[in-house]
Amino acid sequence: MTVEQALHQRSESRCELCGSEDTLGVYEVAPSDSSAEQSALICKKCQEQINSNNLDENHWHCLRDSMWNPNPAVQVMAWRLLKSLPSGGWAQDLLDMLYLEDDTQEWAEAGLKSDDEDNAPTLDSNGSPLQEGDSVTIIKDLVVKGAGFTAKRGTAVRNISLTSNPEHIEGRVNGTRIVLLSCYLKKSN
Ligand SMILES: [Zn+2]
Repeated sequence: MTVEQALHQRSESRCELCGSEDTLGVYEVAPSDSSAEQSALICKKCQEQINSNNLDENHWHCLRDSMWNPNPAVQVMAWRLLKSLPSGGWAQDLLDMLYLEDDTQEWAEAGLKSDDEDNAPTLDSNGSPLQEGDSVTIIKDLVVKGAGFTAKRGTAVRNISLTSNPEHIEGRVNGTRIVLLSCYLKKSN
């Protein structure tokens, strides 16, 4: 049985957040091992709202019911959504009522942390913030996977680009644009 089939069976082919039967799809509840236990079946409308990060408060009153779903993956989604809704209102009241097992709570919070990391500054090996367009020096020989060469210690990389991951930057080495780990770089003056 595929994950999708398992989820259809579990949810009786209804969105596990709002109960809709319309255009259902598998949503992996990050960090997820892609199993059914760590995924939820949700409808297109829920998915669109979650992806756009622009939550329509009226739609999410459905969490009043779905937060009591016995499956941790759905509980985690409900918890994160309630957290994302304006605090101080009904969402806060529900959140106060929603008790998660320790493991589930950790999972729920782990997902939020990865959101924060997106906004974290990119730091070099000395903890100096790196900016778009900076020049850096590589401080350790780095084997570049897939490109078939080693980026040598001491190589200067000019005009770097930042990525959505604060641990990665992009730059041109040996004429090839590669991803470099910021912890192996030193900002040049
Ligand atoms: Zn839905």
